[in-house]
Amino acid sequence: MFNSKAYAAASATSPLADTTIARRDPTEHDVQIEILFCGICHSDLHSVRNEWSEFMPTVYPIVPGHEIVGRVTITGSAVTKYKTGDLVAVGCLVDSDRTCPQCKAGLENFCPELRFTFNSPDKYLGGMTYGGYSDSIVVDEHFVLRVPSNLDLAGAAPLLCAGITTYSPMRHWGVKKGKKVGVVGLGGLGHMAVKIAHALGAYVVVFTTSPNKKEDALRLGADEVVVSRNADEMKKHAGSFEFILDTVSAAHDINAYINLLGVDGNLTIVGVLPKPLEVAAFGLISGRRTLSGSFIGGLRETQEMLDFCGTHNITADVEVIPIQKVNEAYERLLKSDVKYRFAIDMASLRTE
Ligand code: NAP
Ligand code: ZN
Repeated sequence: MFNSKAYAAASATSPLADTTIARRDPTEHDVQIEILFCGICHSDLHSVRNEWSEFMPTVYPIVPGHEIVGRVTITGSAVTKYKTGDLVAVGCLVDSDRTCPQCKAGLENFCPELRFTFNSPDKYLGGMTYGGYSDSIVVDEHFVLRVPSNLDLAGAAPLLCAGITTYSPMRHWGVKKGKKVGVVGLGGLGHMAVKIAHALGAYVVVFTTSPNKKEDALRLGADEVVVSRNADEMKKHAGSFEFILDTVSAAHDINAYINLLGVDGNLTIVGVLPKPLEVAAFGLISGRRTLSGSFIGGLRETQEMLDFCGTHNITADVEVIPIQKVNEAYERLLKSDVKYRFAIDMASLRTE
């Protein structure tokens, strides 16, 4: 075991504060990584504040962070994919059983034994796993990804969650040239969805509650922007979408979006709302529309997404902050006041 610097919350109402955590010494299949940047996902905030207590209660202290990029410092004796000095990334998953049908199909994200980067039982040290708001992490090489060398590292970090969570359902539902695609909510996930859908060749319409994001949405690759509180603007698109991705993090009316789908259209939810949504049957049955969910992505697809982003030169638009500003960043995230993802520069933790 060795000590790592980190930021942790001691309870649902405590701010994140500096602390020291234990990391395991790398085993033969492990890679030890010096963390350079870690994105701030809304899931970090949901977890720190125990907003998913019914489904996934938070165990304190919690060290969040699952949008990690860094440099390999040590490799275990059996590691074959990485060497010291490589630029690598870690997303939401750090373990799975590797034998179930989902794991065999490259869908580790649906393994019954999956372990998250933070707030999952740690089979090596006991206690819970600790995430990327830290200066280092030790991860089995199977769960480590390669970062394309042309990508800015701070902007690449959010690809590990916001990128794959939006790429995966768009691939699954066949987003491509000739398809009309809606993106609801222009936050961390939403702005990645716009960039990726645009790169896949789709016609992209953004739905936002923030009129001041209109110009940005167009710059990011949207073909049209609708202010969702304007009923007339919404009506113009009734029955016209093949696919809509809903990335909103708070309670809202999804029936308004179901009604925008065409025949056989699909609305996929990725926002993890703490409370159940109300769905009107009428909206689904008229048009044989479907409502579904999607949850990050498997390792193979995550690497595919990173390579796709490398080819298309796609990174997140980030505001880089020192870790000492993380609590302020959480308050701003709640007000949708970030364009469009915070990335923590972990050098700020090393000098603390
Ligand atoms: P975020 O950056 O805070 O973005 C959420 C966006 O939703 C906001 O920017 C805002 O966009 C819109 N919004 C917020 N409150 C709203 C309200 N009351 N009504 C309507 N729109 C509202 O969050 P994020 O990091 O992108 O995460 C989004 C959600 O996805 C979170 O719930 C997160 O936990 C979840 N998530 C899920 C997965 C998965 O695998 N399924 C993975 C990662 C994250 P506008 O200003 O444009 O309206
Ligand atoms: Zn996330």
